[in-house]
Amino acid sequence: MMKQKIKYILPFVAVLFVACNNNKKIEDTKKQGGLVFPQGEKITNSNFTGTAYLQSLISADSLNSISVGNVTFEPGARSKWHSHPAGQILLVIDGVGYYQEKGKAKQILRIGDAIKCPPNTPHWHGASSDSAFVQVAITGREKGETVWLEAVSDEEYSR
Ligand code: MN
Repeated sequence: MMKQKIKYILPFVAVLFVACNNNKKIEDTKKQGGLVFPQGEKITNSNFTGTAYLQSLISADSLNSISVGNVTFEPGARSKWHSHPAGQILLVIDGVGYYQEKGKAKQILRIGDAIKCPPNTPHWHGASSDSAFVQVAITGREKGETVWLEAVSDEEYSR
């Protein structure tokens, strides 16, 4: 008799558990302004100019040699010049920003844009001067880590 009852109650408990977990996810999303991924922690290393935040989403491992991170740039913030030995893909999920490869014109990036940075190609990315910018960076790690170069000067940034 008791066993029978548990059999009927269990599915309801399971549904309730899933529903509660979903609510928690919605709450977490609201906390960071309605964007898909959390803003993460302020970047304190010297590879960026201005204020930027990083939330690591996926670390590279033996199954997937790519890392995925959500980077939020405050207006005017940008990376230093750098290159990725195995290239990088950027998915723009909010705001207006810039992407520039050495020797080429600066491109304006807007929400919904997806771009490919070729391997070993010096470039930088960041926010425009009057809008924040949020990107998901998908970076190949199988050929080594990011090579950091010089800062993007104000002259280069505003060119
Ligand atoms: Mn890059």
